[in-house]
Amino acid sequence: MHIELVEGDITTQRVDAIVNAANSSLLGGGGVDGAIHRKGGPAILEECRALRASRYGGGLPTGRAVATTAGNLPARWVIHTVGPVYREAEDLSGVLRACYTSSLAVADELGATSVAFPLISAGVYGWPPDDAIFQALTALRDATTQVESARLVLFGEHLYTLAKEIATRG
Ligand code: ADP
Repeated sequence: MHIELVEGDITTQRVDAIVNAANSSLLGGGGVDGAIHRKGGPAILEECRALRASRYGGGLPTGRAVATTAGNLPARWVIHTVGPVYREAEDLSGVLRACYTSSLAVADELGATSVAFPLISAGVYGWPPDDAIFQALTALRDATTQVESARLVLFGEHLYTLAKEIATRG
């Protein structure tokens, strides 16, 4: 799989699927979640509500992923995943990497070959950005998937520069 780093807004990415750093309620939130629902329109929330009513009454568990339509966005699907809230007292990095691998597994089920990811857990959920980038790159590099292109979308120049550094460091 080809891994690409880009600076920008995930809602404008022209790929088969974009990943949402959702919360377990699937009913929308701030950050990238808010931006996706705002620009994608009500069709996404409608499908999220239906998923809550059927498969995920207790919420979508952390580290898991599920797809909906992308509404008015240029992508075909939104893959919602729930990152772990950062904790110093407990290493949840395996759960964070699972967000990337479960999203790729859902992309495989959909037949999506290009997927764009935000930096999961690195906003409100408090994950230190450098380690969030490291975990994202590790999960994507190690993944077994039919997806041909994974794009990590860094929001702002600072995160993009940091990601470039971490990627070249190996
Ligand atoms: P979480 O709750 O998983 O921490 P957030 O949405 O708060 O999710 O933040 C995750 C990352 O997404 C942060 O790095 C934040 O800067 C970034 N982000 C926020 N809005 C956008 C956007 N429109 N496109 C891409 N990334 C975004």
